Amino acid sequence: MGRTRQVAVGKVVFGSGKLVLLAGPCAIENEAQFRSCAQAVKTAGAHILRAGFFKLRTNPQSFQGLGSDAFRLAEQVSAETELPLVSEVIDPRHVEKMAQITNLFQVGTRNMYNYPLLRELGLSGKPVLLKRAFAATLDEWLLAAEYIQSAGNPNVILCERGIRTFENSTRNTLDLNSVAWLKANTDYPIVVDPSHGTGRAQLVAPMALAAAACGADGLMIEVHTSPTQSLSDGEQALLPAEFTSLTQQLERLLASQERSLWKI
Ligand code: PEP
Ligand code: MN
Repeated sequence: MGRTRQVAVGKVVFGSGKLVLLAGPCAIENEAQFRSCAQAVKTAGAHILRAGFFKLRTNPQSFQGLGSDAFRLAEQVSAETELPLVSEVIDPRHVEKMAQITNLFQVGTRNMYNYPLLRELGLSGKPVLLKRAFAATLDEWLLAAEYIQSAGNPNVILCERGIRTFENSTRNTLDLNSVAWLKANTDYPIVVDPSHGTGRAQLVAPMALAAAACGADGLMIEVHTSPTQSLSDGEQALLPAEFTSLTQQLERLLASQERSLWKI
């Protein structure tokens, strides 16, 4: 496959050859935290803002997100920063309401096999960022994408976020083979999430650069203004200054490939 299909999220286009940056905190925790993270990633040059309402946590006692209580705040901050929102949807019953707020639906790793959810997203027609289940083969992942597509929605972007292996020095093993394979065999735009892929802030920049080098169309990066106080995934969050430095390194790397970061 040569050409990548283009998927538009607001004014941002995936699959144009330019690299799209999706960034923000793991979750919306409160107004001050979300606004400061959003402004920081906007200043650093992010194109799409992460707005985590519903968090699927391994431990039911862990912070589960503010849910619909954060919808208005997210809308306000999106308008203030002029950044479209990407948000994880966990329940087919939320699709209609969330479609009014979010610009890009995210399906998380735990829901890649949730076929009723995928069908509902297919019917909605809105762009979907489909994360790879942590133990899915590439074929299973593509069949999950097909659920969305065959329900009438071709606006599917795949997101590699790491798989579970025997290795436990990192949270997951970021499988960049998948990026090269999907580029060669499909026309979907591919986003890479080195934050969940490594689980360690120190490893995010090197793996983000590696993902860009092997042809990713976008990068999803967790950024927090105070990672040590974050209610979820603080260990893998970049500080705004680290994210800014990464964007500069990406510009230089992409220039060597005759590519660049997305600009409208
Ligand atoms: C996330 O992006 O916040 C997330 C929960 O990701 P994943 O589903 O890949 O773990
Ligand atoms: Mn997270």
